[in-house]
Parts: sequence; structure tokens; C-alpha cells
Amino acid sequence: MIVVIKSQTPASEVQRIIQELHRYPVTVEKVVSNDKAVIGLLGDTTAIGRENIQQISPFIEQVVRVKQPFKRASLEYRYGEPSEVAVPTPNGVVTFGQNHPLVVVAGPCSVENEEMIVATAQVVKATGAQFIRGGAYKPRSSPYAFQGHGESALGLLALAREATGLGIITEVMDTADMEKVAAVADVVQIGARNMQNFSLLKKAGATGKPILLKRGLSATIEEWLMAAEYILAAGNPNVILCERGIRSFDKQYTRNTLDLSVIPVLRTLTHLPIMIDPSHATGYSQYVPTMTKAAIAAGTDSLMIEVHPNPAKALSDGPQSLTPGDFVELMQEIAPLAQFFGRGTKSAFTNATPNLAAKISSTVGV
Ligand code: PEP
Ligand code: MN
Repeated sequence: MIVVIKSQTPASEVQRIIQELHRYPVTVEKVVSNDKAVIGLLGDTTAIGRENIQQISPFIEQVVRVKQPFKRASLEYRYGEPSEVAVPTPNGVVTFGQNHPLVVVAGPCSVENEEMIVATAQVVKATGAQFIRGGAYKPRSSPYAFQGHGESALGLLALAREATGLGIITEVMDTADMEKVAAVADVVQIGARNMQNFSLLKKAGATGKPILLKRGLSATIEEWLMAAEYILAAGNPNVILCERGIRSFDKQYTRNTLDLSVIPVLRTLTHLPIMIDPSHATGYSQYVPTMTKAAIAAGTDSLMIEVHPNPAKALSDGPQSLTPGDFVELMQEIAPLAQFFGRGTKSAFTNATPNLAAKISSTVGV
């Protein structure tokens, strides 16, 4: 349930209303307070009459019941106002949200060694993208496949940040590693396979670090938003939703099915920022540029793209990874597109960049 306060209500009156609301056996929290203050009531509100609340003050404009099972994640809870996730990085604060430029996260599936992660980060930086990604802890289908270098890879990510000023996004798989990962990451990723790992979600909520929550392999939109609710309920409002493709019946030609319809659908349901990952969604680098552009046209707030200096030799997800050269080209192509859709981003792209990309492609990891 939310209590919407009229604009220009004196702060002391808002405080008094909050005080009165505390008499009910529910959690009371201030949700948004730009022009209008909105106060959320959480818990069992079924016995609370809307009229009773309305009577508390003539400054109460409206009392609305949030019908969705996801309360804090719902668009209604913020009275229709989109939320944003502002992430401090050495290069400045990067904000994910509907009223902000497109944010691009790029990098290898796994952090393999110092040279490749630093070199990739340099290309990523040169294109104007804002985050380097790379897994230290990898969720692999086979126990015999490369599992990630773990803690030492976190150190390499920190070196890549030092060298470029980019923010870091990396995945946590186990509650036991949460502190270590959160100490290095600027955004902590919860992968598709852990979307309903409720212990991990609670712990992610407790860190206060921005969380990138990937959609589960076969998760419904409601299950995904309920997973986000766990993080929000644990006191962390900084959640970004990442669509990375869902299981469908064709595994032969695409790894997953990119559900781009989630963008307009989520806009009706939630205030949270959205990311699209065309790399895991398609599984093949040749399809990544098309779906990247489609995602921008559909209004995504951010993108996650896998890039590897030498995809043929990658320890994981090589087939879907762009070469640095292809990534540079893609970033050039999407700059005017982002501009067209009102998500222009100041690109740091220079003529020197293609050379840098080509050099890295031909030297690193070969
Ligand atoms: C990843 O980002 O490398 C990853 C494993 O993604 P997902 O959880 O979407 O499969
Ligand atoms: Mn991957």
C-alpha cells in the first residue's frame, strides 16, 4: 500500500503522517520524495482501511493498494517514477536508468589472465563503454569445464580498473564469497542459474552494492521480479534487471531466445532499470550486433556484450564473444542509434582505437 502526499506539503506534516502510520503493524518507508512524497506500507495491510489512512491528514492525496505480489519492485510502489542506479567508478558516476544515456558493459566471459583482461579493458574504455565485465567464479554446466580463477581473478579485475578507470561487474555464485566479490566489484552480478538462490539474494540485499540480477533460464517475469523483491526487501534499492535469453525449443541455431518483449512489459510492471545481454541470449557472435541494435530500439537502459581478444582460444563462451575489432565497429554503429533513441552517450572513440583493437586481437592470448 502506498500513501501519496500532495505536493508542497510541509515537511513537518509529512513527518507527522509517518509518525501516525507507525501505529499500524507494518513497515513504513519513504519511497520517493521529489515533487510528491510517497510513503510505502509493507506487510499485511489487508486489515487497514484506505479511508482510515486518508483521515490522518488533508495533505494525503491518495491511498493506493499495490496489487502485484512484488511490492517494492512494482511501478506502482514508486507512483510511476522510474528508479535509477548510480554507480561510482574511477571515471565518474555512471547511472543506469530510463532518463540516462545507454550504459555499455563489455568484456570476456572469464578473467583468464592479467594481460587479456587489461588489454580488453583498454579497448572497452577506448570505445566509451563504461564497465568491464569478467567472471572470476563461473557457473559451468560441466564440473570438468574451466570454473574460473576465483579470488585471484578478482585481483586482476581490480588491476584492469586501475589501468582504465572502468567500473567492474563480476558474478558471485556462493554466499561464502559475497564479501570478497563485493569488496572488488562496483556491481555484483547474480547469474541466471542463481536467480532463485534466495540465500544469495538476501545476502546481496545486505551488501548494499548495486546488483545485476539476470533472468533465470526459464523464469517467468513474475518470478524474476519476486527475486528482485528479495534484494529490495533486504534493504538494497540498487537492482538492475538483465534479460539474457530464455530456454526455448531451438537449441540448434541459437543458444537461447532473446525475449526483447520484456522491455515494454517490464516498463508497465516495474521501475527498475533494464539491461539486455545479446551474447548469452544468442550464443553466436554473428548475431550479437543485430540484437544489440534491436535492444536499443526497444528502449533498453544498458547492454552487456562479451568481448575476447581471441575468441577461438577463450576458456568459456568463445563462440558468442566479439573480437575487439568487431566490438569497436559495433560501438561505432550504435552511437548514432543511441542518439536517435534519445540515449546518446559521449563516446571516447578515437581514430586510434581500431589500431589498438587490431593489435590486441593479434597479440593477446594467441
Ligand atoms: C555470464 O554473464 O558470464 C553468465 C554466466 O551469464 P548467465 O548467468 O546469463 O548465463
Ligand atoms: Mn559467458
